[in-house]
Amino acid sequence: MRTELPVTLLETPDGRRADAILRSCVHCGFCNATCPTYLLQGDELDGPRGRIYLIKDLLETGTADTVTQTHLDRCLTCRSCESTCPSGVAYGELLEIGRATMARVVPRPPLERAIRRGLRAVVPRPGRFRALLVLGRAFRWLLPARLRGQVPVWRALRLPRAGKDADPSAQAGNARTAGHGRILLLEGCVQRVATPDVNAALRRLLTGRGIEVLSAREEACCGSLDLHLGHDEEARAVMIRNLEALAPLLDRVDAVVSTASGCGVTVKDYGRLLAHVPAYAGRARQVSALARDVAEYLADLGVEWSREFACERVAWHAPCTLQHGQRVTGRVEALLQAAGYTLVPVRDPHLCCGSAGTYSILEPALSKRLREARLAALGAHSPEVIATANVGCQLHLAAAAGVPVVHWLQLLR
Ligand code: SF4
Ligand code: SF4
Repeated sequence: MRTELPVTLLETPDGRRADAILRSCVHCGFCNATCPTYLLQGDELDGPRGRIYLIKDLLETGTADTVTQTHLDRCLTCRSCESTCPSGVAYGELLEIGRATMARVVPRPPLERAIRRGLRAVVPRPGRFRALLVLGRAFRWLLPARLRGQVPVWRALRLPRAGKDADPSAQAGNARTAGHGRILLLEGCVQRVATPDVNAALRRLLTGRGIEVLSAREEACCGSLDLHLGHDEEARAVMIRNLEALAPLLDRVDAVVSTASGCGVTVKDYGRLLAHVPAYAGRARQVSALARDVAEYLADLGVEWSREFACERVAWHAPCTLQHGQRVTGRVEALLQAAGYTLVPVRDPHLCCGSAGTYSILEPALSKRLREARLAALGAHSPEVIATANVGCQLHLAAAAGVPVVHWLQLLR
């Protein structure tokens, strides 16, 4: 793609990077075939190729209107297009630059600004988020319809536990332990409040195998929320706070492990995102090098796990941040199958469920349609449980699913 970005922009790291990404696109349109919003809307501007053109125009002219804003807002940042693109176009990075530029040139109406400010003020702060969750659950009936469906409902997990004979470590000849590793577990902002059982499950699995699990007391948000909403400077400030919290533990651990793939994808990217902040670039690279999704960490341990529950049929929903963002595929499936579960077929496994961070709040209509489609695909072969790997997908799917939705770690013993 030919570009004519202004010289002043090309003097900046973001300008140069955007120019290189734009030039790598050959506008073949293959990406449209796997873009959830293009498939729903059938509009070129709601597909990756159209959005790339919109961002190119925005960067070349330094101006945009609310039409561009709407089409960029509708992007889920799922990066399914990246997995499909034969030219390796780094769409996610381009969108980051495009959204940050758009935030500076296209003002939003006061109500929209207030909602976005509210999300940024509450979601990444566990204390505030917990208080809001308690209030939201108590006064759910008073909330406007748009918000009512967003309050995660607490439901007891009604699945029968597996008996002792399901535990291979209890059987003769299979008493392998993992050794004496030590990890730094990222607790996450939303996850520690909304689904605390997930990290508790990992702690139980690892400590039972002699692996120490540390966490940083002052852990901050990973920065993904600000980044996705186009607040790149604020996102970097949050990432630096998080780096400072993690830094004292980094030299003592084998890995920095995330159980929420939405956080993990950003932490893995710290090296790139903070490359131009000299005081933190080295630490950021160190964190990125140590960062692992829990599926990678457990798969590499080579330990055999058994079934925590007596159910067998599991529908696996791979979050976009795991399969497209981190390119981790097949690991969870292999671990669940080795533990004795049967994975039912799920059509179009590359498509997003519509959760996408704050998307379900900011774009509720599209988000709901995407969830309906995903739940139809996940439920087509009568699973007893749906498993996923990110707190956002888990809560979003659980709000409308007919069977329990769990983090896959909860299925292991
Ligand atoms: S598939 Fe890749 S090269 Fe083709 S239009 Fe999409 S982003 Fe551009
Ligand atoms: S990130 Fe997802 S929604 Fe956005 S353009 Fe790519 S495939 Fe479409």
